[in-house]
Amino acid sequence: MTVSNSLKLRFDVQAVRADFPILDRTINGKKLVFLDSAASSQKPVQVIEAIDHYYRHSHANVHRGIYRLSEEATDGFETARARVARFINAESPKEIIFTRNATESINLVASSWGRTNLKSGDEILLTEMEHHANLVPWQLIAQERGAKLRFIPITEEGLLDLAEIDDLLTERTKLVAFTQASNVLGTLTPVREIVDLAHAVGAITLVDGAQGTPHMPVDVQALDCDFYAFSSHKMCGPTGVGVLWGRRELLEAMPPFLGGGEMIRRVELERSEWAEVPHKFEAGTPAIAEVIGLGAAVDYLTELGMEAVRAHEKELIAYALDRLVEIPGVTVYGPTDVEVRGGVAAFSLEGAHPHDVATILDADAVAVRAGHHCAMPLHKRLRLPATTRASFYIYNTYEEVDRLVEALYKVKHIFGRGRP
Ligand code: PMP
Repeated sequence: MTVSNSLKLRFDVQAVRADFPILDRTINGKKLVFLDSAASSQKPVQVIEAIDHYYRHSHANVHRGIYRLSEEATDGFETARARVARFINAESPKEIIFTRNATESINLVASSWGRTNLKSGDEILLTEMEHHANLVPWQLIAQERGAKLRFIPITEEGLLDLAEIDDLLTERTKLVAFTQASNVLGTLTPVREIVDLAHAVGAITLVDGAQGTPHMPVDVQALDCDFYAFSSHKMCGPTGVGVLWGRRELLEAMPPFLGGGEMIRRVELERSEWAEVPHKFEAGTPAIAEVIGLGAAVDYLTELGMEAVRAHEKELIAYALDRLVEIPGVTVYGPTDVEVRGGVAAFSLEGAHPHDVATILDADAVAVRAGHHCAMPLHKRLRLPATTRASFYIYNTYEEVDRLVEALYKVKHIFGRGRP
């Protein structure tokens, strides 16, 4: 029952798939269906080759050597910074700080900005749908500084409930940190609206863009937020590198996060002076090859066009939602309106534990994730211990949604409730 035969994607998905060598893999004799890109995306050959080329031809440490290789490495590294800046429409590459991942970017702000600016009685406003990466760093700094955490609730449908926002956002609120897209519900949050509300009470804002940058056009100036964090590995780039964008004046006023080489201007035995941003926040030898790989990933996505990427995912999630709810016993969480939903479908199947579902799907070479997806408070709010999550990206097809649905019918059969 391949409903997708009659449907055609606008995106040239077969051309995209040809760029991803891993998609040729078979598992248990079946063609891999990779539906876990929200955890980490696969990599196109353009990114793999950029890293390979760098190691074969230009590897040396950056910002140090006065010799050809080091100059090439530095040039590749700083060119990638400029590409990333353009990709999110930052005013300047100086506002782009390379970290290890989105988690470290958020920790950098919590630690450096938080330690300098938060005091007892201040409030940090988060939401009930945050990934642990945008929750735990705030818990740590709130405990340390005596600040209080408050939370924007979610509606039954999984949207942010802004009805009580006037009570939650007050002159005590110093920072509002929230996700651009939920990694469980798929919810796309009204970033600009929340930023405007936060600024109206004098709070600054941090947007967790880990599920944003890979999937939609991002313009940090239009969003008007103050910090924006994301990871390379979810947007076709390598693991080991993340980005923090911050408003220049905020970054300049913040103390360093880590100390060491590369982040200083002058060092004496007892004290030091810091380098300019962004280098003030990049202590030690950075992930040079990974940053260069991220630059290639940004080029790749730019060539596809982020509007087209979003349109493709919208079509896929609309189809997936229709097909999943057809299966008796399946409940899909999150908004049904694909205008406010990204390509993520977390669901339960009545009578089957999410881990069993994922294991049986794996036998059919359908890779999905099961668990709390690093959002335990959200699962508690949904009164669920865990969910199974299928997430879609540029290389997924309608046929792969069909493979997921077919495999779910198998799970139902194994658990004694479905058709064969
Ligand atoms: N925020 C969200 C919404 C995420 O989905 C993730 C990754 N699952 C993160 C933050 C953390 O990303 P990383 O593990 O790359 O730091």
